Amino acid sequence: MSAGHAQRDHAQWSASASARLWACAGSLALSGRTGQADSESEAAAWGTACHEVSEDCLRHGRKPEEWIGRFIQTKRHRIEVDEEMAETAQVYVDYVMEAGVFGLKPTWIEERFKLDAINPPFEAGGTADTVIYHDGEQLLEVVDLKGGRGIVVEALGNKQARTYALGAVLNNPGLDIQEVKVTIVQPRAPHRDGPIRSETFHVTDLIDWTTELLAAMRLAKLADDTYGSNGSEDGSFDEWAERFLHPGDHCTFCPCAGSCPALAVAAKSKALLFFKDESGVEQENTVGKLTPAEVAEILDRADMIQNWLNAVRAHAHAEAEAGVEIPNYQLVAKVGRERWNDGAEADVIAACEWAELPLSEYQNAPKLRTPKQVRKALGPDLAKLVERHSTVPTAGTSLVRQDKTVRTPVQPKAHLLFDVIDD
Ligand code: SF4
Repeated sequence: MSAGHAQRDHAQWSASASARLWACAGSLALSGRTGQADSESEAAAWGTACHEVSEDCLRHGRKPEEWIGRFIQTKRHRIEVDEEMAETAQVYVDYVMEAGVFGLKPTWIEERFKLDAINPPFEAGGTADTVIYHDGEQLLEVVDLKGGRGIVVEALGNKQARTYALGAVLNNPGLDIQEVKVTIVQPRAPHRDGPIRSETFHVTDLIDWTTELLAAMRLAKLADDTYGSNGSEDGSFDEWAERFLHPGDHCTFCPCAGSCPALAVAAKSKALLFFKDESGVEQENTVGKLTPAEVAEILDRADMIQNWLNAVRAHAHAEAEAGVEIPNYQLVAKVGRERWNDGAEADVIAACEWAELPLSEYQNAPKLRTPKQVRKALGPDLAKLVERHSTVPTAGTSLVRQDKTVRTPVQPKAHLLFDVIDD
């Protein structure tokens, strides 16, 4: 396997952040200075784990379901591989295997690339999930797995995928390439074109697009060089922020969403607009009277406010884990999926055979059914035969309001690692 997905360093202009860096030129400068470039949401960690499973299966011919029940440590989370992740990975693995004719076509898995050849103003590159060369068609295809279900990713005009395509073309100068195809595999988010969709374009279109990419990079470089001063001695941070920070949907994955002044201002002003119009007049709270255009505008505002709230939540959780007390909130263990203990399979099978349970009720060949399914099949009197063979693991913590939980508080990570010195 290549370097673990969670351990990888990202280039300054990382392909995976292309859309955001493009839409908000100041994002790169801000994330480089706020010290949150390594923040990781749980959803992002889930995607990282799903990529890890997929890569392993493509490289070693394994099935994603073999990973079910195992844990993958990402930068900040410990993610358990469950059926949903295995199914997501399987859709992607199946597509790559078929498109690459089961390894007969030249295929690169997790291909790292740099964009040095186009002379970017700073280090730029990334890692393409899969690149396939369809030699008979002079077609180079990049396949990008998306594990998310909240945001539907389009193949059309996808800046991230195009950056991968550019990297793949530059990495393979010896290939005869006339056309480029970018394919998005996103099994968890419903899309009118299905979980797999593609865009194909001529390689000259990619070269034209590179000019736009370089212009966006240069603007980000200007923002970085003039950070906080707007390039003039008397320029203020506010002026810089107004010029270079542009909140929008792309804030969702921004590592500095929790510290970005522009997002905070935009979110607060949009929140106020729920209740007062721009002239300060109280809005009537009658949803039924809203026009379709007003509904659309409010939903747009809600997305931005949600992005900011997510950043605040992630920050609060990280602070609590570091030992900071968040008033009225406590950490509780996040309960994982119950699983059979390592080495318990033979004992469970023996117990089920002794209870004369039909094979299909305790096995989903070749694997055991889940502990809950087997206990149910055994019935209340015999379930105790297998009770000691399973455990419910804890997988990290959640931060919850004290008055809304009956769960026992747990120690922050920082207290587990260091002795707390009492005054
Ligand atoms: S949170 Fe949004 S506006 Fe702020 S730097 Fe990030 S992408 Fe730009």
